[in-house]
Amino acid sequence: MAYDDQNIFAKILRGEIPCDKVLETDHSLAFNDIAPARPVHVLVIPKGAYVSSDDFTATASDAEIIDFWRAVGEVARMKGVEKSGYRLIANAGEDGHQEVPHFHMHVLGGASAGPMMKRQG
Ligand code: 5GP
Repeated sequence: MAYDDQNIFAKILRGEIPCDKVLETDHSLAFNDIAPARPVHVLVIPKGAYVSSDDFTATASDAEIIDFWRAVGEVARMKGVEKSGYRLIANAGEDGHQEVPHFHMHVLGGASAGPMMKRQG
């Protein structure tokens, strides 16, 4: 899937629309989700133009990948959910129900996430 530079997170990265920033690093940005599903709901995104987790891990530099994962961990610690626990979710594509086609990790915490997912059938 080609990267669409008109997606909402690309606009946030260009400063065209605001975000409630939590953390910014050399290669990553973290901000609060506009419609939080849990008391803590932060989105961590790479600054580079990557559609999905598979795109990111195949084409990003080692520095970007390391920076991204450090940012995810730092956000969990900043929000204080590393003790109580949290859930990481990265949706990709149609079956993954990805709404915004710029790779992002949801960091969800502050309340139980519940069982992982209902089994089918
Ligand atoms: P996805 O379904 O793609 O994994 O998740 C996209 C997430 O982006 C959703 O949780 C949605 O609430 C969030 N979102 C959509 N538009 C905006 C926006 O303009 N600002 C912020 N902060 N979050 C957004």
